[in-house]
Amino acid sequence: MQTLSLLFHDVYATDPRESGFASAAADRYKLSAAAFDAQLQGIARVRRDVPLLVTEPGRLNASGGRSTQDPFVITVDDGGVSYYTMVADRLEALGWRGHCFVSTDAIGSRGFLDAPQIRELDARGHVIGSHTASHPSRFSACSVDRMQQEWVRSRQALEDVLGHEVIVASVPGGAYSSTVARTALSAGVTTLFTSEPMTASRDEHGCRVLGRFTIRRGDSPDTARRLMLPAPWTRWSAWASWNAKGLVKPLLGSAYPRIADVVLGGSVTRTPKTTADSTRHA
Ligand SMILES: [Zn+2]
Repeated sequence: MQTLSLLFHDVYATDPRESGFASAAADRYKLSAAAFDAQLQGIARVRRDVPLLVTEPGRLNASGGRSTQDPFVITVDDGGVSYYTMVADRLEALGWRGHCFVSTDAIGSRGFLDAPQIRELDARGHVIGSHTASHPSRFSACSVDRMQQEWVRSRQALEDVLGHEVIVASVPGGAYSSTVARTALSAGVTTLFTSEPMTASRDEHGCRVLGRFTIRRGDSPDTARRLMLPAPWTRWSAWASWNAKGLVKPLLGSAYPRIADVVLGGSVTRTPKTTADSTRHA
């Protein structure tokens, strides 16, 4: 069974700085409320099933048994306050729930979810997961000890807030490696979302690893809907774009984020993007 997972970031009413990390790089992943609504309505036009929650594996089989379409999953990274103020109500109006991945060191700080909001979202049926503690900019370059510490500390913080186990996480910045999965699993994470635009899940050291397709500012309003379609073009182009960047990244090393800023955010005319640009999200 393939799973089509979508990755969103913050959603804002008037200013991207209302929610989440405040930087030009982070802003490029934030959607206005109208843009977010357009993506959700696009999905709703072509899907009658509700998005899957990875903590309810039974639903995966039920959905797959009734439909020839891949189950879909909604995820939102970073833990910005807009999950509470903008995202949750919109999902719930459609009868949907999503996954909210929290950078736990930011809990309660300006623009981020606080503990009561996280508890309420959990009670409303959203899945709360870890997005590490400090959101390192190049997570896969961290030492094994640091990775381990980030997962352990973040999980502990969320479990202290929620009072129950947290077993789902997403990788910050899309900086994934096999070691990232291994350290996540050893810290108790059994399902890990990357930003690799692929629908196949895989098992890494016993940790279930799922890719995601990023929806970012400037994407066509029907990007999410087109990703839902059986025709693979949109998914393929997302993968091709991501993979191309994957090839240059090792060559550029630490300069990659800066150069990617220029290439992706500069004066280059962009066609309606379906790019799952995983490495630059905040
Ligand atoms: Zn992030």
